[in-house]
Amino acid sequence: MSDCSCHDHGDAPAAAAAAAAPRPDWDTYFMDIAHVVKTRSNCSRRNVAAVIVKDRRIISTGYNGTPRGVRNCNEGGCPRCASSAPSGTGLGECICSHAEENSITQAAYHGISTKGATIYVTLSPCLMCSKMIVNAGIREVVYDEEYSVTEQTKAVLAEAGVVLRRLEGYKRPTLVRNG
Ligand SMILES: [Zn+2]
Ligand SMILES: [Zn+2]
Repeated sequence: MSDCSCHDHGDAPAAAAAAAAPRPDWDTYFMDIAHVVKTRSNCSRRNVAAVIVKDRRIISTGYNGTPRGVRNCNEGGCPRCASSAPSGTGLGECICSHAEENSITQAAYHGISTKGATIYVTLSPCLMCSKMIVNAGIREVVYDEEYSVTEQTKAVLAEAGVVLRRLEGYKRPTLVRNG
């Protein structure tokens, strides 16, 4: 027992919880949010999300799935995803937009500049998205899980001066609803 009688030192559960859970650093904060955004993905193959950040503020988010107005992938909207094509094949016929692509076009849709921004992605970007990231003026890519960052993808980002960084030691959040 503390002999201080002020209200800040009570045994309130909220105070104990706050003491037990330190504030996440910025990288963790944005990556955690990307994992929440990912829950909105409608792709039957793989769920991925991206969060674009500028000056420590979120300017856009995106998750993968079929384009606006097209039947959801998990409702049969994308024949390629519904087929037995092995992972990484048949991508030319895939109707699903990638999370990075959707976060960049979402920013464009609202007239927000992505120049100089950082993009947080739950999965490392493919070559197509990397080209889009370069041309959108994004300066840094921070990813959680490694997909198949090809040498070509790494080379394009490096030559264009975009930093590609895996978030080392990151632990994915446990998402609890009504918790
Ligand atoms: Zn899909
Ligand atoms: Zn991609």
